[in-house]
Amino acid sequence: MTTTNNTPQTAPSYPAQVTGMDILVRALRMVGIDTMYGLVGIPVTEVAYIAQGRGIRFISFRHEQQAGMAAATHGYLTGKPGVLLTVSSLGFMNGLTATTNATVNCYPMIQISGSSVREPIDLEQGTYEGLDQLNVAKPLVKAAYRVNKPEDIPTAVVRAYRAAVSGRPGGVYLDVTTPCLGAIMNAEDADKLFYQPVDLCPAMPPAQEAVDRAVSLLAGAKKPAVIIGKGAAYARVEDKIKALIDKTGVPYFPMSMAKGVMPDNGPLSALSCRSTIMQEADVVVLVGARLNWLLSRGHGKWSPDTKFIQLDIDPEEIDCNRPIAAPVVGDLASSLDAILAGLDKTTMSMDPTWVPALQKETAVKNAKFAERLKANATAMPMDHWTALGVIKPILEANDDIILVNEGANTLDDTRDCIDMSKPRCRVDCATWAIMGMGMGSAVGAAVATGQRVVAIEGDSAFGFSGMDFSTICRFKLPVTVVIFNNGGIYNGIGQNMGKDGDPAPTTLDIHARYDKLGEAFGATTFYVTTPQELEAAFKEAIACKGPALIDVQLGADSGKESGHIGYLNPAPLETIIV
Ligand code: ADP
Ligand code: MG
Repeated sequence: MTTTNNTPQTAPSYPAQVTGMDILVRALRMVGIDTMYGLVGIPVTEVAYIAQGRGIRFISFRHEQQAGMAAATHGYLTGKPGVLLTVSSLGFMNGLTATTNATVNCYPMIQISGSSVREPIDLEQGTYEGLDQLNVAKPLVKAAYRVNKPEDIPTAVVRAYRAAVSGRPGGVYLDVTTPCLGAIMNAEDADKLFYQPVDLCPAMPPAQEAVDRAVSLLAGAKKPAVIIGKGAAYARVEDKIKALIDKTGVPYFPMSMAKGVMPDNGPLSALSCRSTIMQEADVVVLVGARLNWLLSRGHGKWSPDTKFIQLDIDPEEIDCNRPIAAPVVGDLASSLDAILAGLDKTTMSMDPTWVPALQKETAVKNAKFAERLKANATAMPMDHWTALGVIKPILEANDDIILVNEGANTLDDTRDCIDMSKPRCRVDCATWAIMGMGMGSAVGAAVATGQRVVAIEGDSAFGFSGMDFSTICRFKLPVTVVIFNNGGIYNGIGQNMGKDGDPAPTTLDIHARYDKLGEAFGATTFYVTTPQELEAAFKEAIACKGPALIDVQLGADSGKESGHIGYLNPAPLETIIV
């Protein structure tokens, strides 16, 4: 017979506990992260659930590279790092492509990836998705850290944040091992780990001596010009650049993504006089722009006598291609303030014929451009210019729309055709001239700003990220994707040139109905073959403020190899022999 003890039993009490994943999410919130982009799976699925539960928006993608492009664009447009969450091994590597591209372009972002248990990786014993991710990432990103213990997570997040935004911004990799994600701590102890970091992105004013040198060079210039780079767009210094231009009357031209920092069609815009400036300007001020290949590395057409004033946050950028007469190293806001103050005490000595000559050249070139658009306005089948002639006035009248743009001819012609009048409204293939940023950047731009987005995509370029059009649809984003379908990479005229009728390497699908792909995900879609149809479709698409896709049927012969950068192709054999 058993006896029962009548004394009441109390359940043992344990302190509340939290996991590394919870600490990670709270640490991100603490530094102000409100959005994450990514693609979940082992071992990070719960991180995303916890993030949603704690009020962080989680934008889930179909491919990590696109999630990364979204995070990078988010970083560029907000100045706060975009956050990408990836799984181990391949997910990590897919995302790393975007983190690397962000680093090259000075976009602040943090890629957080789950990674496998360390011990078997270090001994190369084979484990689930075993890859030494930290060391793979290290040479490709601005900074890379691994966190092994939950106690270290808040510090790791703050370090990653600071590395992403401080000095020259860039991509940061944060490796969080599976044991660290799953580790358990007492909630009370965990609470003590969090702190509010002070001054996450400190100003870095330039030296007065450097400012004085720059001011006297600029004031003494006869034919000065300002080149505005996307560093200036990122740094949000449009008001200060306007003050500089207004005060000095110096003409300017923007690099691609800096279009709109100052209006493309303003009276001092020398957008169409790039070659003249390279050949004739005696002093050029680079504001957040690099003398990289996009500016012929300071050689080529550039006059050997041109003197440069370079405003940049990174001292290592100075002299990297040609001597810089007056480097001003500091953050652009502080540097421009200091230069503006210096200019108050000097007078400019600009040649009075310089600006009128550039304005005359601009008027001639603009008239020629308008003629070209007019001449192609009724082409059938449509070519790039026909389509752009339709889109141009509509986009320019809706200047708060962010334009995402990639392709070869589609990139070059759109950039040349669409005037921008507001800063940070153009996101493109940027420094590496890469393809495969379209859908990701469109999502990032829409989510980060709440503004409408139009992505003008070559058919080949769209192919890299097309599946993530479904992400635009799932999140009901106000994005219109316009596909210029000329049936190929560069164009579609190389039809079946291969042995046994295989398509040429450049040939894609001239009859593809990309609109049906949009239909599959519930978007508003259009297939257009005439300028009239395009005009109606484009107006309706941007007005619907939801996901829309327009398949624009071009002729297969519209476009040339490599667009404007054909000169970079190695010479074909027959030209070498001849
Ligand atoms: P673009 O392609 O438009 O010429 P780049 O991305 O090549 O522009 O160059 C941008 C430059 O701006 C980089 O050299 C970067 O160091 C600099 N930069 C970025 N942010 C700042 C900032 N806040 N202050 C000063 N320079 C900056
Ligand atoms: Mg094409």
